[in-house]
Amino acid sequence: MRIIFIGPPGAGKGTQCKRLTLMLGIPQLSTGEMLREVMSHDTALARWVASYLDVGKLAPDHLVMRIVSQRLTHTDCAAGCLFDGFPRTHVQAQLLDEHFSRTGRQVDLVLNLQVVEKVLIDRLLQRATIEGRSDDNQQSIQERLRVFRTQTFPLLEYYERQQLLVTIDGQCATEEVFEQIKQAVLSHSGKFSRK
Ligand code: AMP
Repeated sequence: MRIIFIGPPGAGKGTQCKRLTLMLGIPQLSTGEMLREVMSHDTALARWVASYLDVGKLAPDHLVMRIVSQRLTHTDCAAGCLFDGFPRTHVQAQLLDEHFSRTGRQVDLVLNLQVVEKVLIDRLLQRATIEGRSDDNQQSIQERLRVFRTQTFPLLEYYERQQLLVTIDGQCATEEVFEQIKQAVLSHSGKFSRK
């Protein structure tokens, strides 16, 4: 089964995805973590990637897709995976669909984590004091929220049309959010592809 998590920064995608990974026994593919891993080396590619991430812009679609498609060849993805923060643009969604149609696979479910902006900003500023991520500062947070509204939000309609979208209230307690996710997964489990 292949499940996509969509949500603005601070919506709890990473946290919820980790829990679902444990429940389903399939890996979490976080493109943010993959890109931060690339950035951790002292290379020209790292500096190029940092020039996007540090200011809250999206990394280029084809670079992200290349990293994801390499990751999908690993054997632990054979039974499925959870996409945490990917796709984030219409182009990425189409590249993923093309990748799956070549490999005979499909997206089974898209979970839309909804949280109002005021709560997101509070959560991200709080996270900044704990994790110290280079992109958790006021300016980058505003830009990431703007990028979400303009580039990622339209994807909801794309998946809605394919009847894959389930909206989750991401504003309740972590446990309650996970309950909603579990219900969505269980009620779709009959439709999941076996490949
Ligand atoms: P995240 O860890 O999901 O909050 O992502 C952190 C940052 O990584 C984002 O603000 C983007 O700059 C970049 N990023 C993560 N996923 C993607 C993606 N699918 N496409 C482009 N950039 C991404």
